Amino acid sequence: MSTVRDNVDPAEVAKFDALAARWWDESGEFRPLHQINPLRLDWIRQHVALKGQKIVDIGCGGGILTESMASCGADVTGIDMAEAPLAVAKLHLHESNLDIHYRQSTAEELAGKEAGQYDIVTCLEMLEHVPDPAQVVRSCFELVKPGGHVFFSTINRNPKSFMFAIVGAEYLLRLLPAGTHEYEKFIRPSELEAWSRNAGLNHKDSIGMHYNPLTKVYSLGQNVDVNYLMYFQRD
Ligand code: SAH
Repeated sequence: MSTVRDNVDPAEVAKFDALAARWWDESGEFRPLHQINPLRLDWIRQHVALKGQKIVDIGCGGGILTESMASCGADVTGIDMAEAPLAVAKLHLHESNLDIHYRQSTAEELAGKEAGQYDIVTCLEMLEHVPDPAQVVRSCFELVKPGGHVFFSTINRNPKSFMFAIVGAEYLLRLLPAGTHEYEKFIRPSELEAWSRNAGLNHKDSIGMHYNPLTKVYSLGQNVDVNYLMYFQRD
């Protein structure tokens, strides 16, 4: 019988457990997440005001996005299945003095308990690490209130994204540890849009995220060939 904890790849969770202590080191393995965070937070805030909103951040890791949303005055819950990043996230609250609820949970499990309770659901850089991402998308739909907002980000699947996100980022530029991502798990925007539509979420906007290896600067732009974000709203 399948359970609400089945949609977890233990090897994926182990990768994040092993690196957890480095999560807030801005020159360490998670440097790219620190660098892209202001961009993705701005994009989210272009679509929704965060102050006073009840948000769940799915696959929150050490809490980079989670804390930035709490700093904007949102009431944020962070869930993840890796224990060590959650422990780091909780410890980091002593430095940031923010109030965030961190829980070890899958999206499916939380949806079973708190369906329709969130104004906003964020699930960034997580879908490409789970066995059944469409199921996570359905759980995000269940968690958000009618009229609420859902944000995803992930990596496109095509020869260019293989060259940039794996060969370039992991082997040539070493922005991320080798083995962080598996090409087969990358997700085309059309697939994410279809899963979301089937779940009951309406596509509102998409944007690409780019890295310039010469300037070492990330930026947002229309091209979604490699990294991208998508915004949906529940009817
Ligand atoms: N969303 C964060 C962290 C991305 S790293 C950010 O963008 O800053 C991906 C995270 O997803 C890791 O912390 C990993 O432990 C978590 N994860 C992987 N599979 C998961 C699952 N099935 N349920 C919940 N979290 C999961």
